[in-house]
Amino acid sequence: MIQGSCQCGKIVYQVEAIPEHTYNCHCSACRKAHGATFATQLFAKGETLTFLQGEDLLSEYVGEVGIRTFCSNCGTRLMNYAADKSHYLSVALASVEGDHGIVPVAHCNVESKALWHEPSEDIPLFQGFPDGI
Ligand SMILES: [Zn+2]
Ligand SMILES: [Zn+2]
Repeated sequence: MIQGSCQCGKIVYQVEAIPEHTYNCHCSACRKAHGATFATQLFAKGETLTFLQGEDLLSEYVGEVGIRTFCSNCGTRLMNYAADKSHYLSVALASVEGDHGIVPVAHCNVESKALWHEPSEDIPLFQGFPDGI
């Protein structure tokens, strides 16, 4: 289990991670949603998601490809999931606490990456998503 929280600390969650599915997502939706050049997303087992505190503060934005959540108090992006969380759930790696040793294994959606950024080539680059996620 990993544990994560938002910037204000009012929302704390835990979930069983799938560390081999950790990606830097360069899609325009992640860029906007995170206010960042790209977003590092750690996939996890949605049915294991539990909130240790603050679940009532979690807000959902229903986007085109899934539901994006954030803390309604501090605005921190926390997780993305399908309506059926067992279908897919990912958490923002930046929200995860501690020295977990999880690192991104690939860059995804490089076809729509920020114009000002060239992803490092020390991990594989995919124009879309790699097969299997
Ligand atoms: Zn917060
Ligand atoms: Zn994305």
